[in-house]
Amino acid sequence: METPGSQSSLHRANLERVVRAVRMAGSLTQAEIARATGLSAATVSNIVRELKDGGTVEVTPTSAGGRRARSVALSGGAGIVAGVDFGHKHLRVALGNLAHQILAEETEPLDVDASAAQGLDRAEAMVGRLIEAAGVDRSKVIGVGLGVPAPIDVASGALGSTAILPGWAGTNPRDDLAARLGVPVHLDNDANLGALGELVWGAGRGVQDLAYIKVADGVGAGLVINGQIYRGPGGTAGEIGHITLDESGPVCRCGNRGCLETFAAARYVLPLLHPSHGAGLTVEGMVRHARDGDPGCRRVIADVGRHIGSGVASLCNLLNPSRVILGGHLAEAGELVLGPIRDSVARYAVPSAARQLAVVPGALGARAEVLGALALVLSEMGDAALLDGTLAAGAPALA
Ligand SMILES: [Zn+2]
Repeated sequence: METPGSQSSLHRANLERVVRAVRMAGSLTQAEIARATGLSAATVSNIVRELKDGGTVEVTPTSAGGRRARSVALSGGAGIVAGVDFGHKHLRVALGNLAHQILAEETEPLDVDASAAQGLDRAEAMVGRLIEAAGVDRSKVIGVGLGVPAPIDVASGALGSTAILPGWAGTNPRDDLAARLGVPVHLDNDANLGALGELVWGAGRGVQDLAYIKVADGVGAGLVINGQIYRGPGGTAGEIGHITLDESGPVCRCGNRGCLETFAAARYVLPLLHPSHGAGLTVEGMVRHARDGDPGCRRVIADVGRHIGSGVASLCNLLNPSRVILGGHLAEAGELVLGPIRDSVARYAVPSAARQLAVVPGALGARAEVLGALALVLSEMGDAALLDGTLAAGAPALA
């Protein structure tokens, strides 16, 4: 076997660095690979040729800054990944390949009170349907990313109690879905997946440090630090919804009082508009009325923005991200919510941190989480299986 530090193990490590860089970015030019990995242009060139001969990557001519270049992507045929996103009232499934192409996507409404087993039955059937619709070979599916709006025990994969999916507490949807589909399943919460989706496909492309703020039935943040999701040892990093804004404010589901969530989450703010707009009002409806000029809806959205901005200011002082991406339906309110967020950041954050921060709406809308589930598989899958193809294709030329 390989000895650490030997030429063959160094070579394998270099192959892995190149594959990882391409896997995370979708496609890169050889110059970009050199920058991302710190390898020399000549080494990158040799490694790319070897990976191409082994069928792991595909190389296509492109141009970068007006010069001819070679774009490197993982082979579309090298594997298929699936993403499954459970929301409060929906189930969304997408199929993609390792070249970051989305092959098929589908959404269904989901009964809020459905049990975990019923939800997973539906997910299993949808994945099967999409595989058939996309005309791909089931044996090519190498992994599934699964998103749930619930706290997750990092070690066991079990879900904590959640008001959003009441029938799921204590279940282990990761192991259950893996047993049903016969492939590894990677599990994460919706805010982290939204951050990953926007990082790989949306408003966070090329950004190393960002926060994705999801405001829906709860308020959460997915944090990306140095290009990686930061989860913390217990998996609870990013619980921005439970920053205290008012010690004598409303009692929160976490047991504290006056958390940001009690000033921003749908179940707290929509009732403010029930007397004027009826009890059936949704966040989408509130945003639509606000865009049409309704003063009550505009006022509520502005207040929500101001409060989120206080939370973002704290985040900004602690982590100094360069971008904050607002996700969920609230982001469709555009400047009606982004303006008040920026005003609060300008007021409460350290000026040097606030100056470097851009507050933008998500680019992926409601698709952020399911695309993030695909990105989760791409980031967690490891490169061993991919490289085995290349290494089996021939004795590697030492680079
Ligand atoms: Zn709370």
